[in-house]
Amino acid sequence: MFGIIISTILWEGIRTYSSILQNLIKSEKLQMVSHLAASISHEVRNPLTVSRGFMQLISAEISTEKGKEFVSIALKELDRATDIINDYLTFAKPAIEKNEKININEEILQAINVISPLATMNGVEIEQIIKDSEQKQYMTNGERKKFQQCLINIMKNGIEAMKSKGGKLQIHLYSSQGTVKIDISDQGVGMSQEQINRLGQPYFTTKEKGTGLGMMVSYSIIKGMNGTIHVSSEPRKGTSFSLALPVFLLQKD
Ligand code: ADP
Ligand code: MG
Repeated sequence: MFGIIISTILWEGIRTYSSILQNLIKSEKLQMVSHLAASISHEVRNPLTVSRGFMQLISAEISTEKGKEFVSIALKELDRATDIINDYLTFAKPAIEKNEKININEEILQAINVISPLATMNGVEIEQIIKDSEQKQYMTNGERKKFQQCLINIMKNGIEAMKSKGGKLQIHLYSSQGTVKIDISDQGVGMSQEQINRLGQPYFTTKEKGTGLGMMVSYSIIKGMNGTIHVSSEPRKGTSFSLALPVFLLQKD
């Protein structure tokens, strides 16, 4: 009897200790990546700013139309690179800091604009469905840039899931039970239950060049906006991400 009690206590002790150790390792790893992301972003941003300045100077010197067009493309691309860097800082600091009014309709359109070249490249058609009245503008609260990043991350995953055979990426926007819902569905490779469970864990990726950070960032952004993400997926059939956010205001034009 005594032996059983002692060994139970010992076993519980070992289990607690090992789970504490596991959590410690996880948070250490996370912290390291946060620092790395922040410092790399910082280092890369400076040369980008310098290049942009010189590009603008060159732009003033150029007289041909073609030359001006090329410089303008280069400037846009530099801006995009800077945006991407800025977005990666989100990972270092996922907490929502600003509280802005966000027009969800506009953000979805903007995200589609950003992602459509990738969709075209992969033979993916993007279909946007806005239920209720077309004029209805859904408003919510949060940080616009981060919300934008979250939408892009999820759409990008949808497109990447259809890489080999193409398909349709559907984006539904509608209101339900006092929340605004955004469903982003693809017809891609889908996920097993085990993969769904691991979704949102840092470094979980099944892609050769994946970071395994996109979903983690997205989950934390939506959580910061008091929203939820629900996933349903079937291997080889497709995946649907359903975001629910508090509606802050319904505006009609
Ligand atoms: P990454 O895209 O860099 O791999 P993410 O955090 O964005 O990292 O996604 C993690 C993993 O979740 C992906 O590697 C993939 O296995 C899975 N996943 C995410 N979205 C989808 C999707 N729409 N369809 C199938 N698998 C997905
Ligand atoms: Mg991704």
